[in-house]
Amino acid sequence: MSFQEPSTNQCEEPGRHSAGMPAEERLAVERGQETDPGAVTGRIHSLETYGTVDGPGVRFVIFTQGCPMRCLYCHNPDTWDPKGGTVMSVEELLAQYESNKSYYRKGGITVTGGEPMLQMEFLTVLLEEAKKRGIHTCIDTAGICFREGDSKFMYWLNRLIRVTDLVMLDIKHIEDADHRRLTKHSNGPVLAFARFLDQNDVHMWIRHVIVEGYTTDQKEQQALGYFIGGLKNVKALDVLPYHSMGKAKYDAMGMSYPLEHLYDLPNEKAVAAKQEILKGIRKKRAEMLKNS
Ligand code: SF4
Repeated sequence: MSFQEPSTNQCEEPGRHSAGMPAEERLAVERGQETDPGAVTGRIHSLETYGTVDGPGVRFVIFTQGCPMRCLYCHNPDTWDPKGGTVMSVEELLAQYESNKSYYRKGGITVTGGEPMLQMEFLTVLLEEAKKRGIHTCIDTAGICFREGDSKFMYWLNRLIRVTDLVMLDIKHIEDADHRRLTKHSNGPVLAFARFLDQNDVHMWIRHVIVEGYTTDQKEQQALGYFIGGLKNVKALDVLPYHSMGKAKYDAMGMSYPLEHLYDLPNEKAVAAKQEILKGIRKKRAEMLKNS
């Protein structure tokens, strides 16, 4: 199998969602009425009961199925197909959380993927139910599904941010053309989503992967920092070196690995890149201070 191109409309939710509901139920949802957590299901790739790198503390990590992006360094191409995975209800997932809940006293639930915001109704109802139980909630997303002009999407998003404690947002590239080269998508929705979260006081951790020849330009790293510096709700910055661990999965799936020519990036390069990003952040913050 060759490297897959994304289809154009993959940000449509693949599972049960309000567009697919009977009209009267959709109206009820749109009026903000309760949604039955036993009836709302999502497509799930896998679960991790003891996650330590997906947000604060030890976490129950839910990997959702489906992603419209095609990042060249993706470790999980088996999450791309929005029609794959296992269908599970919100109630089933929370029952699994409850069965190990003593682990998560200082952690919570993280929903990652794939792209969790591909299944907005499911994600919203899941985190609403988690919040009712006092669970810390985190979404790990690339922000690509953000569509400010889509009233249905924004309806769910405005509900979702009320019950989300933290968004871990991947910014893959600050330059649009390079973002397209790396992911097959524009970064417009991603940057707009970061601004939206910031305006709505949602805490963010920003993550950025350093890939030789793609994200190693110092000026672009500073430009990324300059953008992040304008966001007041960024609480952490994680800069990671590219590694080729995902390659085995491509081989197993009979797919060609697009970064075959690259070696794992030495950690020092990621540390140096972080310094460049921080320079950009400081520059932006100093300008904001001067103009305030
Ligand atoms: S956004 Fe994540 S899951 Fe989707 S292609 Fe990129 S790395 Fe893979």
